Formats: sequence, C-alpha cells, structure tokens
Amino acid sequence: MFYVDEEGLISVFRLVGGEEAEGLARLLLARPGMREDEIASELQMDVKRVRKLLHQLSEFSLVAYDIVIDKELNKRVFRWRLQPEQVQGVVKTQLKRIAERLQMLKKHYEANQLYWCGQQGCRKYTFDEALDKFFKCPSCGGKLMVYDASELISVVDEKLADINKLLE
Ligand SMILES: [Zn+2]
Repeated sequence: MFYVDEEGLISVFRLVGGEEAEGLARLLLARPGMREDEIASELQMDVKRVRKLLHQLSEFSLVAYDIVIDKELNKRVFRWRLQPEQVQGVVKTQLKRIAERLQMLKKHYEANQLYWCGQQGCRKYTFDEALDKFFKCPSCGGKLMVYDASELISVVDEKLADINKLLE
C-alpha cells in the first residue's frame, strides 16, 4: 500500500507553497479546524496572505475547509484542515511521472547507440550527429567514441524498482 508519512506530507506542502506552506501544514496537522485569523496570528502572517496561501493549496486539494457557524463570532467561518488522502494522490502522480520519464530515458539509451568524448560537461551524440561532426566533439575537440550506456541503464533500473516498490 502506498503511504506518505508525516514528514513526506510536510515536504509536499513545502514543494507546492514554500516555507509558509510548510509552517501552515505543521500547524493544521497539530490543530485541524483552525480559522484563517487564528492561523494568521499563530504564524504571525497577514490574514490576506494566509487566505491566498490556503486557496493556492486547496487548488491542489491539499487542504479543505468546512463552513461552520461560529457562535462566538456569530457568523459563518471557514475551518481549515489538511487532506492527507489527497497528498498521497499528488505524490503518487508525481512518482508515476518520474517513472515514465525514466522509462523514456532508458528506451532512448537502449534504442540509440550514442557517441561521447568522455568529458562530463559535454553532451552525447547519435551516430548521425557524430558523423556530421567527423567524430570530433564540438565542445572540447575530443574524439567521439561509442558510449557504453549499460551502467546508466542499470542505475535507471534500480531507481525504477525503488519507485515501483513505493507505488505497490
Ligand atoms: Zn567534449
């Protein structure tokens, strides 16, 4: 079963809304159902800023609110809470995307014999490209030679296995 723990949850908020969102997530995790003005005073933030941040996070379904009648204030207020189930979904989607990109990278390396000068900063070339350049690296002038992608592919395979384990 796919599961993001509390720190994972917090890091998703940080990713989406920066440090302010992280602080807000920690607060709502400890005390769900807070009003915007309570959050603002607790985090020493402007209430407008808090409202904006909450709406930004709710677009990602990371937070949700209940509208309740506050007897003390005698008006309708928003009470905010986290949506941990949704966070699981957001992270899962991201992991799936990463896995797809890794698959594409792997296919690219498997389908094309690439040529490389061996310098870290220089790019790799397909056979046609390398031929165009007379097998000489345009960046450093080094000789373009067959690039052995097997090591890279095995690293990609390991990462894919890690991700698939998480997604199980
Ligand atoms: Zn080079």
